[in-house]
Amino acid sequence: MPKTPATAKFQLGVIGLGTMGANLARNAARNGARVAVCNRSPEKTDAFMQSHGTEGKFVACASLKDLRKALKVPRAILLMVKAGEAVDIVIQELLPLLDQGDILIDGGNSHFRDTERRQRELREKGIRFVGMGVSGGEEGALNGPSMMPGGDQDAFAHVEILLKRMAADDGAGGRCVTYLGSGSSGHFVKMVHNGIEYGVMQLIAECYQLLKEVGGSTNDEMSQMFAQWNEGDLQSFLLLITAQILQKKDPDTGEYLVDLIKDAAGQKGTGKWTTEAAMDLGIGIPTITAAVDARILSLDPAGRREQNGLWPESLPEPYPETKSIADLAQSAFRLSVICTYAQGFELLKSASDAHKWDLPYAEIARIWRGGCIIRSALLPRFQSVFSGTEDERKSARHALVDLYRGESQVDWRHLIAIAIGRGIPVPALMSSLTYYDTLRAPRLPQNLIQAQRDCFGAHTFERTDREGAFHADWKN
Ligand code: NAP
Repeated sequence: MPKTPATAKFQLGVIGLGTMGANLARNAARNGARVAVCNRSPEKTDAFMQSHGTEGKFVACASLKDLRKALKVPRAILLMVKAGEAVDIVIQELLPLLDQGDILIDGGNSHFRDTERRQRELREKGIRFVGMGVSGGEEGALNGPSMMPGGDQDAFAHVEILLKRMAADDGAGGRCVTYLGSGSSGHFVKMVHNGIEYGVMQLIAECYQLLKEVGGSTNDEMSQMFAQWNEGDLQSFLLLITAQILQKKDPDTGEYLVDLIKDAAGQKGTGKWTTEAAMDLGIGIPTITAAVDARILSLDPAGRREQNGLWPESLPEPYPETKSIADLAQSAFRLSVICTYAQGFELLKSASDAHKWDLPYAEIARIWRGGCIIRSALLPRFQSVFSGTEDERKSARHALVDLYRGESQVDWRHLIAIAIGRGIPVPALMSSLTYYDTLRAPRLPQNLIQAQRDCFGAHTFERTDREGAFHADWKN
């Protein structure tokens, strides 16, 4: 296998010139790399060269054979194609063209199990494989994404300097990329990133609905509120864009665009994968799961409207309000977001233990501080908890408790009571509070569930006063 000095001259192949691939190729070129670009439909390569060919050193490749010739061994090739079958198709086409020690980096949102399989298959053929999550969307890909690589560490070292140049600034002197661990850890971390993204987006959406329907706020007022939340410790990319979205007018009608959008949110599956992985590992991530459910339930708005007629129109008098909805929502949002990140970290810890990845949690919090969609001023707090000297691998539960110290939870509970009184569904806010209350509860009612299971199915139960599995004749 060829030696790969960390200081190798930058050169990169990029396959897939869609939204992300094109901008990552431009980003690499801006940062001094010679970039060989190739796309399945050659028109896209031509259009790319037409628009951006003069921005840096690009080599347009009409075929994978041309791409092979354009790169020196060991080749480093970034795949930015549609996740799923397309990645396997491209790898199969590339394989006969590659040399031992060449590096493939899958930068798409691949399922971590696919990454594990590809790693095994490619290792047998002497090809080094890095599964790398990339976050930041179109703009981040161009100006500085957060990148989450895992897999072959020697291969990562080969591209590390270039990736560091391309990555976002973490706001504290570092870059938003770090080697995360072996196997599929990079794509697993990216999947959890997306799960957190789902949770926080749903929390914002719920606050938006409460502010609008209970607080009577206009889009402009809500935009200002979210912008103001974004100034303090809640500063985050998702709040920033929400404030912007609420301002946007439709050029055709002059109305607010957000009011013209169907209330049905689709998904590409990473939220669902996070929930599946959490269930496989036995980790509860209720806010994230609620957010996935909320998207699923939102589909079919026509069906929902048909059912509306079935329900009585008026609800009982709502819970008395003492504070403004805006104040309650901001407080509830802060604590719920902390719960969502904590759930993600808890899931990462469990996966890291199961796969022996030894994930660097403080580093993950750090590389999520810039560039990516879930960047937020809350992340340095997680970073410092995980960097704690006495126990760097402190669980996310401890992080949660630390972050809650001194915070009032009254507003959180009050807001949810208002939502319940008004019949406004707030699954993520409610799941977050339930998560927190579950973690802090000295005793939960699962004793009853154990008893029920033993009663109807002789599943046995455990006791508080002695070890072992017990069964009782509950009916006599
Ligand atoms: P995109 O704009 O839809 O582009 C998809 C690319 O995949 C195109 O270059 C397309 O080639 C290529 N492709 C599709 N099927 C192929 C096949 N069978 N063989 C060869 N090439 C094929 O996608 P994107 O948004 O750039 O996303 C690329 C990857 O990054 C995905 O895994 C996505 O989930 C992930 N990602 C996206 C974002 C985002 O904000 N968009 C953020 C992070 C990660 P043609 O031009 O020939 O169709």
